Amino acid sequence: WAGPLPGARSVTFSTGYLANLAIVSALADRETEIHADRLNHACLNDGALLARARLVRYAHGDADALARRLAASTARTRLIATDAVFSMDGDLAPLGRLAGLAHEYDAWLVVDDAHGFGVLGGGRGTLAELGVSSPRVVLMGTLGKAAGVAGAFVAAHPAVVETIVQTAR
Ligand SMILES: *Cc1c(COP(=O)(O)O)cnc(C)c1O
Repeated sequence: WAGPLPGARSVTFSTGYLANLAIVSALADRETEIHADRLNHACLNDGALLARARLVRYAHGDADALARRLAASTARTRLIATDAVFSMDGDLAPLGRLAGLAHEYDAWLVVDDAHGFGVLGGGRGTLAELGVSSPRVVLMGTLGKAAGVAGAFVAAHPAVVETIVQTAR
């Protein structure tokens, strides 16, 4: 079984907050548009500020609205960022469709699975729950929630993890 992230590498952080800041500031710069679900955890937005990227928020869970914005985007690079399980509503992001859009529009898909890891998909998280597999996913999971300890991991394409290792503060 290759899992949701074939060939992925991972790196750990002391908190999920720092992991999200590291992902976004490593993959985005002033010329990046970050397309974020309106109900995302605030730390993804802090990452956008740190990277000085342009933050574009789409209607909650609305992959059609996201598709229209991506089609209109002229940015040099694009990230899509979403919580996998939304912490206030408890619903799931349409990760299959988001992964398809990431592929179509040459973007990374940052998935914050703080609330799915250890709970859904037999513990493997929301990607496993929904049967989504994509090399464009940058998966963040906290260890301070279901796992009951502290810290976080980022699992992604080896080139993404190497970029994070080399550039994250
Ligand atoms: C808790 C949480 C974080 C931050 O994780 P910490 O390890 O507590 O820093 C990030 N994203 C989401 C969606 C969370 O619920």
